[in-house]
Amino acid sequence: MVCNLCPRKCNAIRDELIGSGFCKCGEKMKVARIAPHYWEEPCISSENGCGAVFFSGCTLKCVYCQNYEISSENNGRYISSVELSEKLKELEQSGVHTIEFVSATQYVDKIIETLDIYKPSVPIIYNTSGFESVETLRKLDGYIDVYLPDFKYSDDTLAKRLSNCENYSEIAINAIKEMLRQCPNLTFDDNGIIQKGVIIRHLVLPNHTKNSIGVLRLIKEHFSDSVLLSLMGQYTPYAKAFDYPDINRKITPREYDKVLDELIALNLDGFAQELESADKSYIPQWDY
Ligand code: SF4
Ligand code: SF4
Repeated sequence: MVCNLCPRKCNAIRDELIGSGFCKCGEKMKVARIAPHYWEEPCISSENGCGAVFFSGCTLKCVYCQNYEISSENNGRYISSVELSEKLKELEQSGVHTIEFVSATQYVDKIIETLDIYKPSVPIIYNTSGFESVETLRKLDGYIDVYLPDFKYSDDTLAKRLSNCENYSEIAINAIKEMLRQCPNLTFDDNGIIQKGVIIRHLVLPNHTKNSIGVLRLIKEHFSDSVLLSLMGQYTPYAKAFDYPDINRKITPREYDKVLDELIALNLDGFAQELESADKSYIPQWDY
C-alpha cells in the first residue's frame, strides 16, 4: 500500500511487513500486548479493566515515550485481522468494561477490517496522540464509541523538538473537532462506564507549565463543555528524555499545582491524576 494515513503524509510504500514511512510500519498489523489493563480513567477501566491492544509503531515517536520499545523500535508480533477479532472476543468474554486500541493510527484500515469481522458489544475506545488527519478519522465513523486523544502541545516549537512534527496544535484541534462530530455527547451506563464521547488527555512535562496552560486554554476555547479533560502528572524520564536537560526529571508538586489551578480557574470538567503515580512500574510488559 501507499500510505498517507496520518498528517505526515509520507506517501510511503508499505510492504507486508515493513514500510518506508516515518513510522516504518508494514501493512500487516503488529501488536506488543493484548490484555486487560487497569490504569485508565475510572470510567474506562473500572474494576474489571479495559481490554487493551497496544499496537507497535507510532506516528509521533516522542523522545520521552514510556512505550519507547514498541513506539520507536516497533517491537511486537504480527497479527491478522481474523486473529485480532478472536482476541477481541476473548477479551470481551473475560468481562472487561471496554476495548481500547492504543496508538493504532498506522493500522486504521486493518482495524476497520477487524471490526467488520467482529464488533464487541462493549464500547470501543480509540486512544491516540491527537496527531491525526481528519480524512483518516472519517473512516472510523461508526466504528469508534469513545475517542481518547492526547492534546500534548500548545507550543508547536516544543512539539517539533520533542515529537518531530509540524503544526501539532492546529492538527490536534481539527482532529478533536472531527472526533466530537462523530461522538458529540458524553454518555455513561448505570455503573459509570463511558459509552460514548471524547476524553482529552494532557501530560504535564517538567519545565513546560506554559505549554500545559496553553493546552488547557485551547481546550476551553474550542471544546469547553463537550469533553472531559484528564490531566496527567505521571511523567517520568525514559528513553531519549535523558538527553534533554529540560525534561530529565519528574514534575514538581508546584508545577502540577500551577496547571491544576488553571484547570480549576477555567472550570474544565474531568480527572486529575495523583502525582504519586509517577512511576515506571505503570509501564506494561510488552509480552504478546
Ligand atoms: S502512518 Fe506511517 S507511513 Fe503512513 S503517513 Fe503516517 S508515518 Fe507515514
Ligand atoms: S504519541 Fe504516545 S505512544 Fe507515540 S511516541 Fe508519543 S508518547 Fe509514545
